Amino acid sequence: MPSTAPIPRDPLDAARAILRDTFGHADFRGLQAGVVGEVLAGRSALAVLPTGGGKSLCYQIPALVRPGLGLVVSPLIALMADQVAALQQAGVRAARLESGLSLDDRSALWRRIEGGELDLLYLSPEALMAGPTLDRLARTPLALIAVDEAHCVSQWGHDFRPEYRMLGRLADALPDVPRLAVTATADARTREDIRRELRLEGCAEFVDSFARPELALSAERKRGKGHARVAELVAARPGRAGVIYCGSRDGAEILAEALRKDGVDATAYHAGLDKDVRAERLEQFLEAEAGVMVATIAFGMGIDKPDVRFVIHADPPASIEAYWQEVGIPLYGSADLAWALRRLDSRDTSAEVKSVQARKARQLYAMLDGATCRAAAVRRYFGEEAVQVCGQCDLCLAPPKLTDATELAQKALSAAHRLGGRFGRGRLVDHLTGKTKDVMDSEKALSTWAIGADTAANTWRDLVDQLLFEGLLKEDPNDGRPLVGLGDADGVRAVYRGERRVSVREQLAAAKSSRGRKGAKAASLYVDPADVHLFEALRGWRREEAGRQHVPPYVIFHDATLAAIAGSRPRTESALRAVDGVGEGKLARYGEAVLKLVREN
Ligand code: ADP
Ligand code: ZN
Repeated sequence: MPSTAPIPRDPLDAARAILRDTFGHADFRGLQAGVVGEVLAGRSALAVLPTGGGKSLCYQIPALVRPGLGLVVSPLIALMADQVAALQQAGVRAARLESGLSLDDRSALWRRIEGGELDLLYLSPEALMAGPTLDRLARTPLALIAVDEAHCVSQWGHDFRPEYRMLGRLADALPDVPRLAVTATADARTREDIRRELRLEGCAEFVDSFARPELALSAERKRGKGHARVAELVAARPGRAGVIYCGSRDGAEILAEALRKDGVDATAYHAGLDKDVRAERLEQFLEAEAGVMVATIAFGMGIDKPDVRFVIHADPPASIEAYWQEVGIPLYGSADLAWALRRLDSRDTSAEVKSVQARKARQLYAMLDGATCRAAAVRRYFGEEAVQVCGQCDLCLAPPKLTDATELAQKALSAAHRLGGRFGRGRLVDHLTGKTKDVMDSEKALSTWAIGADTAANTWRDLVDQLLFEGLLKEDPNDGRPLVGLGDADGVRAVYRGERRVSVREQLAAAKSSRGRKGAKAASLYVDPADVHLFEALRGWRREEAGRQHVPPYVIFHDATLAAIAGSRPRTESALRAVDGVGEGKLARYGEAVLKLVREN
């Protein structure tokens, strides 16, 4: 077993051997080797690597190299279950300590833990910090403690989990065990929080660049309800698994229903569902090859399916950090920002937390509605300096044309002022264009009546949206029939005086040009037409195998690995071993079946 094998002089050599033999990868990527080396030397560390950057190997491999059991703390039950299944497929002795275990299973698990028969144990923070569990684990040799999704410790963030704070006690309880905190998403302040709360002061910090050259970022302003646009985006990606995030449970149900009417295999997933129904839907989704999950944003962290090909935010996430975890195509509107700010304000948290979160929301919308490179904006947000534009996001490809609309803005603002905040956006635009139905004489008498009749209603709608984004107008929710009134008084005065300019961008054109383009994740998989037949045969085999074992298909082989097999058509075991993602465990288990498929297709 790996943990008892003699350690060669350079521990990183042992780590590379496991990387190759157990996980089937030729070498470490990015900062992985640095992080692994640090933990192998017995030191604690903090690692911030992008999603898909291979965080899990950073602790899985040291756990296999170092003597003793590796503990992995994760907030997400579904993710733990999948990781354990994937590790077992690779021949690693991994298990999960969960509250649902029967008494017998629990004692069997403890026997394995205490008998040194386990390499990795996954558990929730509560389970680990429960007194008896921690005491008992402290008597077993431990290789390391990994804290996954470490940003959950920060109260500024969107994923704050109070129970994560308890993990700071590990520094005293297990002073000799290296602790590794990993996350995909943490700005400088969140990193500070992680260090302080998890007692990692003075430890090495590994922060990868936030550049994601494999992704072409894009975002779109919502038009109307946005359902039609979501349906279009989904239709442009047929036969692909995808996740769509919604801001509310109702929203998720309604959207899933609308997509099903379009013939899309869509299910809703949110906290309002019965626990069993939810588990069943998640399992169905993970096991299906195509299929669309419409989930509330709160569940974002719970869905990790490597073969997901697209992510759409039907409603925007809460912050750039939250966005960076899923990197979908956000559809956003000024009403979303207003709603997010209202919701933050009604929360039961300190004024300081509220103001930090409100600033994060504004920074997100500034990026979404910005006019320059999105990738650069995200990287600057995370504290990178001197970043270059990416050259491939929607804003780099089609820089929005900005038109000065200060004069129109003055008209719209004074109309809103005259109307006294008694009407919604539609009525405001009708007033400006002089199209109000059954208009009363008192309204007609206002100096702003029909003042903008020579400008298209669409332009006015865009402008009102822009003024709402800039806080120059604001909407009073009025029980779902929002009324538009003047916003920030100083700002409005500055616009009246011409000291503050307002520009609008030519949105419609941009929305059209991005229609057929590949979205965020869709670009990653390419199968040569000549290999499609074999690729599909491999997928069919994998589906059956996954069904037989009741595991998600990607746990057996990822799509990327199947595509690489189809592309290289290995004839021998050693040729198959050379394919990325094929380790010894999987070779022993599936080698024969895969080679047979290659021969026959
Ligand atoms: P995340 O950082 O998002 O948790 P994972 O640990 O799940 O990422 O890894 C993402 C994918 O990258 C997995 O499919 C994993 O097998 C693959 N991977 C990780 N490290 C390497 C590597 N050194 N070489 C090739 N593939 C790797
Ligand atoms: Zn760009």
